[in-house]
Amino acid sequence: MVKFWKRESGGAIQETASITPVNPSDPATLAALEQAALDQLASVLRTWGKYAFDLDEIKAATLAEQLERWSLHVLMAASPDAAKGGKESESDATASTRRDWGGLREFVTRVRRSEQSYVNRQILGTRQVMGDFVQTLGLVLAEDQEEQAKVTQVITQLRSTIENNAPIEVLSREALNALDLIASIARDRARRNQGLLNDLTGKLQSLRGELDAAQREIDLDGLTQLYNRKAFDKQLGRVFELCKLSGESACLLMIDADHFKRINDEYGHPAGDLVLKRLANCCTKGFPRKSDFVARYGGEEFAVILQDTSLKTACQLAQRLLDTVRIMRIDHEGQELDITVSIGVAELGALASPEHWLKTADGALYTAKNSGRDRVVSVPAVS
Ligand code: GH3
Ligand code: MG
Ligand code: MG
Repeated sequence: MVKFWKRESGGAIQETASITPVNPSDPATLAALEQAALDQLASVLRTWGKYAFDLDEIKAATLAEQLERWSLHVLMAASPDAAKGGKESESDATASTRRDWGGLREFVTRVRRSEQSYVNRQILGTRQVMGDFVQTLGLVLAEDQEEQAKVTQVITQLRSTIENNAPIEVLSREALNALDLIASIARDRARRNQGLLNDLTGKLQSLRGELDAAQREIDLDGLTQLYNRKAFDKQLGRVFELCKLSGESACLLMIDADHFKRINDEYGHPAGDLVLKRLANCCTKGFPRKSDFVARYGGEEFAVILQDTSLKTACQLAQRLLDTVRIMRIDHEGQELDITVSIGVAELGALASPEHWLKTADGALYTAKNSGRDRVVSVPAVS
C-alpha cells in the first residue's frame, strides 16, 4: 500500500490518500500512482502561488496566475503555452496530451533564483540600514570621549558582524546590545540635562529676585521710600491713557513744603531729611487706596495721582492732608519742628496730555504759594 501524508498547522501528521498496489506491473495501479503524484505536485504549485510575494521582475498576483496555470497543466495536461500565459490554439490543444516538464523545471528554477536574489538583497539592505542606524544614533547621543569610545566599540563589533554575513540572530543580538548601550547613554544625558535645567531654573529665580529688588530700587526714592520721579512719569502716562479710554475722572495733586529751606538752614540738613520722611508718611497715610499713587516728585515736592476720584473728593483729601501736616509736631534732637504744605489739584478732564495735566497742577500749586501758602488751590476740568 502507498500512503500520502500531510502535516497539519499544529504539527500533527494526517493521512491524505492511500493506494493499495495490487500489482506493480499492473497498468491501472501505475496510473493511479501517477495521478496521485500529479495531484500533489499541482497542489504544491498552487500553494506556492498562494503565498507568492512581489519580486523585482514579477508581481505576486501575476506569479500566482502563472503557477495556477502550471498547476492546471500538471493536473490536466493543459497547454504549456497557456501555462506561460499564451492563448491555447487548435494545434496546442492537440499537443496538450504531453506535459512540458522541461518548461516547468525552467520556470521553477527562474522564479526560485529570482526569489533567492530578492531575499538576499533585502537582508543585505536591512543589515546595512541596521548598522547605519545604530552608528548614527550612537554618535549623535554620545557627548564625551568616554561615551564615544563605548559606542565606537559596539558599533565596530556590529559592523564586522554585518560584513562577515553572520546569521541574523547574531546580528539582532548585537544590534540590541548596541541599542541598550545607546539607551543608557540617552538616559544619563536626560538626567544630566534635567540637573542642568534645575540649576538654571534656580539661577533664573534668584536673578529674577535680584532684578525685582533692583527694579524696586530704581522705582523708589531712597530717602522716603515713595515712588520716585521716573516711576511717577510712567504712572502718569498710564493713568492718562486709561482714563482717556474709560472716561473715568482722575486728579493730580502737587504738594510742596512751605519755606522748607528754613528748616535746613535753622536745624540742619538731617532735620530737613526727617521732615521730608514725616511728610512722606503723611501722604502715604492720607491716600491709602490701592490705586492711589504717591511719589516724591523731587526736593521737598510730592505728587499724588488719584484714579476714579472727583475734584471735590480730591480737594477734601488735600485739605485733610493740609490739616494733618499743620498739626504734626516733629521731634528732632529735643526740638519741635513744624511744617505746612501747599497743594495744587488738577482734574484730568479733557486735558490733552500728561504734560498738560502736570502743568495745570503745577499752576494751581503756584497760585496756592502766591496766595499765602498752607492752602489748596484746584483747577476744575475743562470739557
Ligand atoms: P517754598 O515755600 O516757596 O516752596 O519755599 P521752599 O524753601 O520750600 O523752597 P525752595 O525751593 O526755596 O527750597 C527747597 C529746599 O529744599 C532747597 C533744598 O536744599 C531743599 N531740599 C531739597 N531736597 C532735599 C533733601 O533731600 N533733603 C533736605 N534736607 N533738603 C532738601
Ligand atoms: Mg517748598
Ligand atoms: Mg519746591
